Amino acid sequence: MSVRIRGKAKTWGIPKGCKIVWDGKDWYASITVDCVPERQTGNNALGLDFGGKTAIATSNGGFVKAPRFQTQAQEKVNLLSKKLGRKQQPVKGKSQASRRWKKYQGKIRRVKRIEANRRCDWSHQVAAQMVSSNRLVATEKLNLKGMTRKGKRQKTGLNRSIVDVAIGKTKDGIKYKVEEANGVYLETPTRQLKPTPPCAKRWETKPKTWSDRVHHCQGCGHSEDRDINAAQAILIGARGRNCPLQT
Ligand SMILES: [Zn+2]
Repeated sequence: MSVRIRGKAKTWGIPKGCKIVWDGKDWYASITVDCVPERQTGNNALGLDFGGKTAIATSNGGFVKAPRFQTQAQEKVNLLSKKLGRKQQPVKGKSQASRRWKKYQGKIRRVKRIEANRRCDWSHQVAAQMVSSNRLVATEKLNLKGMTRKGKRQKTGLNRSIVDVAIGKTKDGIKYKVEEANGVYLETPTRQLKPTPPCAKRWETKPKTWSDRVHHCQGCGHSEDRDINAAQAILIGARGRNCPLQT
């Protein structure tokens, strides 16, 4: 028997394994191939600040928003769970689940699976984009617990734990892809950036409050979006403050 597949592997190789998954409605096949991956990259360097106002801020002034589908999926799951609660659930040793209960259980699994797939795709795409022109990528040593603690920074109403998972995955993907392209992945020691990242221009540290969206340095007058400044400070910190490559 043969089946048609959608899409194509970036780099094909010798198939080593195949995992078949049933999600309650559709079948999926995940094929593992043994290959030598090829990845192109440029000669630039990029610093990344995770979990600020947007999911990622970059040292060259860019922002990546957290994907909206995460909250949409959560809303769907909440709605389906409510409906599930009204169906007859299984009681151990007494009664079996009703057909409707099973149906809703399946729907919930499916929504979660689709969301997980999309999040995984998103992480890969973002990571690939970051690596595509940067041979050196620097991030902050991530402390997800710490991020939740300073959760005040994120006021988008997103479920923190979901965002943390997406960020963690993206970071792993970036490290993996940079190294695949023979680039360098660095993490800035957190102590250089806490409690508040220094000014990326002259490396002064001035206390700021979390509500300050803009970094305005009292020392040198440098003004920048606070997350962008953090991303720049992360890049400087990762290279070492006295690195002659600093611009
Ligand atoms: Zn300054």
